[in-house]
Amino acid sequence: MRFGIGAFVIVATFLAYRRMLSPIRGTVTSAFGPRVRNGVAQWHNGTDIAANIGSDVRAPSDGIVLPQSFHPDGGTEVFMKLDNGFTLGLSHLLRSNSVGETFKRQGEVIALTGNSGNATGPSVHLTLRDRDGKYLDPQKYFDFHA
Ligand SMILES: [Zn+2]
Repeated sequence: MRFGIGAFVIVATFLAYRRMLSPIRGTVTSAFGPRVRNGVAQWHNGTDIAANIGSDVRAPSDGIVLPQSFHPDGGTEVFMKLDNGFTLGLSHLLRSNSVGETFKRQGEVIALTGNSGNATGPSVHLTLRDRDGKYLDPQKYFDFHA
């Protein structure tokens, strides 16, 4: 055998953790974790980034963009299954950039930001879940600084 299992593991690890691009850059207005909103303690399951309406949101990696949906709080929402098994979630959008399930390459525009649903202003509420559905802190994976 020319290549040991070690080399195989290194390559597999590299593929699984290939650096994801930040879907958007801007000011973080509310971070992941505990917060108080309107006097009520909450667990914020994502990161809010202020963005002018119509700003591009890009695919952090190759993956499948699911059809857009609507939620009373989240407004127009788009979810994307990333090639590392994570799921990206975007809320308060203007619209998706695709119809139906669509394969998108890393860096392609997948949605436009908006102010839909129960938003505090033009912004995107961005979530990241691992392959078990557990919410992760997006700021540990993405650099949102403009
Ligand atoms: Zn939020």
